[in-house]
Amino acid sequence: MINLPRRVALLMHLNSSIRLFDCAKKLMPGGVSSPVRAISPCPFYTARADGPYLWDADDNRFIDYCLAYGPMILGHRHPAIVRAVTDQMSRGWLYGTPSQLEVTAAERITRLYPSMEMARFVSSGTEATMAAIRVARGATGRDKIIKIEGGFHGAHDSVLVKAGSGATTLGIPDSRGVPMDTAKNTLQVPYNDLEALESVLRSNPCQMACLIMEPVLGNIGPVLPEPGYLEGVRRLTEEHDVLLIFDEVITGFRLSLGGAQEHFGIKPDLTTLGKIIGGGFPVGIFGGRRDLMEQVAPGGGIYQAGTFNGSPVSLAAGMATLDIMEKENVLERLNDTGMQMRKGLQEIVDDLRLGYSVVGIASMFKIFFGEEPHNYTQALKCDKAGYLAFFRRMLDAGIFLTPSQYETDFISAAHSPEVIQTTLEAIKSCLKS
Ligand SMILES: *Cc1c(COP(=O)(O)O)cnc(C)c1O
Repeated sequence: MINLPRRVALLMHLNSSIRLFDCAKKLMPGGVSSPVRAISPCPFYTARADGPYLWDADDNRFIDYCLAYGPMILGHRHPAIVRAVTDQMSRGWLYGTPSQLEVTAAERITRLYPSMEMARFVSSGTEATMAAIRVARGATGRDKIIKIEGGFHGAHDSVLVKAGSGATTLGIPDSRGVPMDTAKNTLQVPYNDLEALESVLRSNPCQMACLIMEPVLGNIGPVLPEPGYLEGVRRLTEEHDVLLIFDEVITGFRLSLGGAQEHFGIKPDLTTLGKIIGGGFPVGIFGGRRDLMEQVAPGGGIYQAGTFNGSPVSLAAGMATLDIMEKENVLERLNDTGMQMRKGLQEIVDDLRLGYSVVGIASMFKIFFGEEPHNYTQALKCDKAGYLAFFRRMLDAGIFLTPSQYETDFISAAHSPEVIQTTLEAIKSCLKS
């Protein structure tokens, strides 16, 4: 049985979730399908979702700022997505042959991301980064890669070294089961530190295939690039003939339709996309310079394949999402909402003189229980336990923030000014106590 803190038991009935979790723990590792979902002492089990809300198995309602860790930018169950998916379903949902949707989607993506002259559709962000790194290695004939400390690129061997997301939350920065021979080829540099990057590049001449990075670190909370940092990264990687991969699985279609590369005006060699562009269905995309992508099979010798690649349902949902975002100027509105949220939070934090910081960009935000971090080491100094207590109080108040100090909170187009106001009031009272 689970010992719930009395406060939780008193305010909210979680009986069904407790029963389900008890059962799940015997059947699945940690009772969950992905580590971040193992909220202590018991996750709530979602029964349905609509707009900015989730309802659990006991019919408690939560305002959702987790939004499936990023994809649900229009909120849950947007009618246009329901229509697009239903429409696609009526024509079948998996063909094992090419379909017109892939061409339409590739045209739109490459137009929004001019650095992606060619692209391939896969089924997850993990697959996209795995393939992009393989392209970099295959094209350069080099094995070593560089990543940023605290950067998260999915759960495959080459990038599970000092990774953010669940790995940081759970304090397992390196996964067991990753061969030493693989891990030794992944070098780490701190974010916002051009000297460290230059020094690694200088001391390993002609050995590095690529640098893979999130332009804005999204998996240790949002950590923003200092002015000139991304420009410096682009300059150094070019000077040292190392490919630059922007992992825009979070920032793509959120910082702007053309992602962080459009927002900051930086042109990477390869890009990975995911999350939002599946409209809530599984998706990943990798792409980049034509001379690199032409080396991908079947045209070239760098292998990548998948039964579900280019899934018609995912692409239909993704294209419907793009339609709405373009037609209704969603990002402009969302960025305003993000600004309103961060401004409100800043006032609360200032009023209470807690020494916390409010960080974010576009429709991403986070309260760091400590000073604003500029890299992984600084982020680790925040008061994790304090954040967790706050998170639980917020959950009691019917607001689902991301359950870790090290995950970004997201806002969707379904979060009205009233919903934001309700949230700010709850945050104020939860931070006070
Ligand atoms: C979520 C995420 C991934 C992994 O994507 P999945 O679809 O979960 O495999 C990769 N990179 C970044 C930056 C992410 O946030």
